[in-house]
Amino acid sequence: MPTRSKSSSDGATETPLMQQWREVKARNQDALVFFRVGDFYELFFQDAEEGSKLLGLTLTSRNNGAAARVPLAGLPVKAVDEYLAKAVQLGRRVAICEQVEDPAEAKGIVRREVVETVTPGTVLHDRLLSADRNNFLVAMCPDGKPRPEDPSSGWERVGLAVVDLSTGEVAVQELPRGEVGDELGRLEPSEVLLPRALDGWGLPMEGAAVTFREDWIFDLATAREELEGRYRVRSLEGFGFQAEDGLLVRAAGALTSYVAQIQPAGVAHLRPPRIRRPGSVMALDEMTRRNLELVESLRPGLEGGTLRDVLDQTVTAMGARLLRRWILTPLVDPQAIWSRQSAVAALVEDPATRAGGREALSRVADLERLAGKVGAGRVTPRELLALGRSLAALPDVQDVLTGSPDETLAGLGGSLDLLPETLDLIDRAIASDAPATLQEGGVIEPGYSPELDELREVRDGAVDFIAALQARERERTGIGSLKVGFNKVFGYYLEISRSNLDRVPEDYLRKQTLTNAERYFTPELKEWEEKVFGAEDRMASLEAELFSQVRREVASCVERLQSTADRVAELDVLSTLAEVAVRGSYVRPDVHTGFEMEIRGGRHPVVETMMPREEFIPNDLVLDDSGFIVILTGPNMAGKSTILRQVGLIQLLAQMGAFVPADAARIPVCDRIFTRVGASDNLARGQSTFMVEMNETAAIIHGASDRSLVLLDEIGRGTSTYDGVSIAWSVTEHVHEAIGAKTIFATHYHELTQLGDLLPAVKNMNVVVRESGEDIVFLRRLEDGGADRSYGIQVARLAGLPRDVVARARELLEELEGTHSHGGEGLGRHGAHRPASEPPPGQLSFFSPDHPVVDELRRLDPENLTPLEALNLLAELRRKVDE
Ligand code: ADP
Ligand code: MG
Repeated sequence: MPTRSKSSSDGATETPLMQQWREVKARNQDALVFFRVGDFYELFFQDAEEGSKLLGLTLTSRNNGAAARVPLAGLPVKAVDEYLAKAVQLGRRVAICEQVEDPAEAKGIVRREVVETVTPGTVLHDRLLSADRNNFLVAMCPDGKPRPEDPSSGWERVGLAVVDLSTGEVAVQELPRGEVGDELGRLEPSEVLLPRALDGWGLPMEGAAVTFREDWIFDLATAREELEGRYRVRSLEGFGFQAEDGLLVRAAGALTSYVAQIQPAGVAHLRPPRIRRPGSVMALDEMTRRNLELVESLRPGLEGGTLRDVLDQTVTAMGARLLRRWILTPLVDPQAIWSRQSAVAALVEDPATRAGGREALSRVADLERLAGKVGAGRVTPRELLALGRSLAALPDVQDVLTGSPDETLAGLGGSLDLLPETLDLIDRAIASDAPATLQEGGVIEPGYSPELDELREVRDGAVDFIAALQARERERTGIGSLKVGFNKVFGYYLEISRSNLDRVPEDYLRKQTLTNAERYFTPELKEWEEKVFGAEDRMASLEAELFSQVRREVASCVERLQSTADRVAELDVLSTLAEVAVRGSYVRPDVHTGFEMEIRGGRHPVVETMMPREEFIPNDLVLDDSGFIVILTGPNMAGKSTILRQVGLIQLLAQMGAFVPADAARIPVCDRIFTRVGASDNLARGQSTFMVEMNETAAIIHGASDRSLVLLDEIGRGTSTYDGVSIAWSVTEHVHEAIGAKTIFATHYHELTQLGDLLPAVKNMNVVVRESGEDIVFLRRLEDGGADRSYGIQVARLAGLPRDVVARARELLEELEGTHSHGGEGLGRHGAHRPASEPPPGQLSFFSPDHPVVDELRRLDPENLTPLEALNLLAELRRKVDE
């Protein structure tokens, strides 16, 4: 689009300011332009309108020459962070356009340039970042050419590169298209960068700003050149890139060229890309992450409701971020798990090391983000001081570690780079009471620069000089009221009141006349004044020069700072896991590469913290070759869902290398944990439909292996009883025959307990309740065998349903049960008072092996059904049953 720099649409001549704005806007069309005019940032035209809607700015207008008026909205420079935060949180990008020359010296209009573009994925302002989580920007590169008519086709895999610009870390991986949603859900990027060709493809996540860039920045040659130049390497092999990693290179190259472009002050802190190969960590899909409430509660606003809330005893921001990552990426390499375990164990067993280490760590500020600021050239004097204080705490951290008998800990200690020269430099160069900004002066420590010290002496001598001069001149002139003063416009002067003018000496030269006094200067005063003014100017520029020297010198150590930050974060998390283990009485699980899982006295790490400790009832569970599928029954509120999630969380904790809430545990390394919650149980998801539930179930059937842990909570509930039971039944059979995954299936369908008798590796368990008169007491105890009935009416009573309603329900129940056992139509409800091991007479004939529907179910291959076919099939089966 050609820029209209000379005239506005009605042909009238524009002011030079508006012409300049148009030029800037033309180059930054996808951003709101904050256009600096004096003490304000101004937004014009469409930006002004958007700014008033999004940011609550007042919309006015401004004259634009020739009677044309321009929509305008302004914000004070002082308040810019607040508005940036708003804009970025709403997913907008902002180009900050500054005056880049002194208005006093400008010929004509002041030159302006965009000095920085702030986007959701690249913000570096403290106020816009949260300390305990990363802020990710993701770039994705498809492996084929998206078809213009349907950009979601024409490609199958993507290279995915991710950066946290505030910390400088970069990682890359390759994924099939179907896994992109889960990975984005894990990373929760605030911005996603895509090639323009993908415009129109529905990004499988919400909440991220999408930025398109020209396709060519994703070209292999361009990307390779960009990366080699950025990291100053001859070839990318050193980073582990191989010949077939073209997609990774293309995504990474596009990513770094984009961030460099919008941060002109530099991105020297970008770290070389880490390559994540498939299978290096446990994949966790979005539903599992949510259902296990790992880092986000299903009930928003509930404090302390997630695994992270319970585990987060970290003492540094770096540790908090790393902990979050460890939770979301459990390990699968047993060696790696064991080495974390042994470090945690060493810290559990040695309280002094643990306490000492954590105390020292707590004195370390966010080194990783400080390093990021140093690298991006935006560190302030106070931040350098914080960096210095953090470095000063490191020797204590190291002392604690090097004494440890554990290899991992001793290794961390031994390789901890203390950066003594950097610490020394900051100590010597930066004044311990340095102000927040350089402009305020007084940043450089006395003694660091002899020239600066001398200049300061001149300035500090001013008070003495003035006092001495005043005393001397009073004596010489005999005027007791003579005073030496200073003002901004006229500088230093000698002031004599009108009544004493007759006594003014010859050598006084007039400077300024007031109503009641005259002001003078002398050659001596003039000379001295010039010296002082010169000193002040020189001091300001010298301080700026010295500070930027120090900054550059620290910047040359950014990589070392970052690897120190990594170790600090790791130690923080390890000591946190130890601390949590001690406080919560967790044990070290025996993590092994075999099949069986055995948990003794297992507890739910989050639920147990919500009640007095002795009130939580621990439970045992064994899953092995002779029984790896558990049909878990029990009335509503008995504790089924809690046990299910408890097992999932213990599995996950074990693979993080953490201790687990149990008396003892043997945990096999699993490749994936799947957790699904039936539609009607899944309140948080609003759009919970039976279809969604079936989609998810299909995904498990496709993704699970005999090394997976599958946790199904009331799957099949979102449809009629027969439909639901049929699906649950066939899914269980399939898992049993074809997959072999350890599975716990919580259900209120008693029919399913028959599976325990039919299939060898399926066993029934139930969460017991005791009847006491009309009521039931929840024992929360897990036992072998299926539940005998559902106790729905008792639960309803407990929940406060009125007496007569409960009585009537009881009546109806008896009636229904009577009808049913006489072979009537009933409601298809399951039998009551029936020991699970004994198949009920007649009533479940539907499941007799020769029923045509069962035949059909057996022949069915769920793997090859689309969800739509499955639904049609269900309707068909249902029709047959009703016939
Ligand atoms: P269900 O899935 O069987 O309906 P839940 O697992 O949702 O039951 O448990 C209901 C409530 O019972 C939980 O919110 C918790 O407060 C309590 N609960 C569950 N398990 C235990 C336990 N082992 N010890 C103590 N209280 C428990
Ligand atoms: Mg439940």
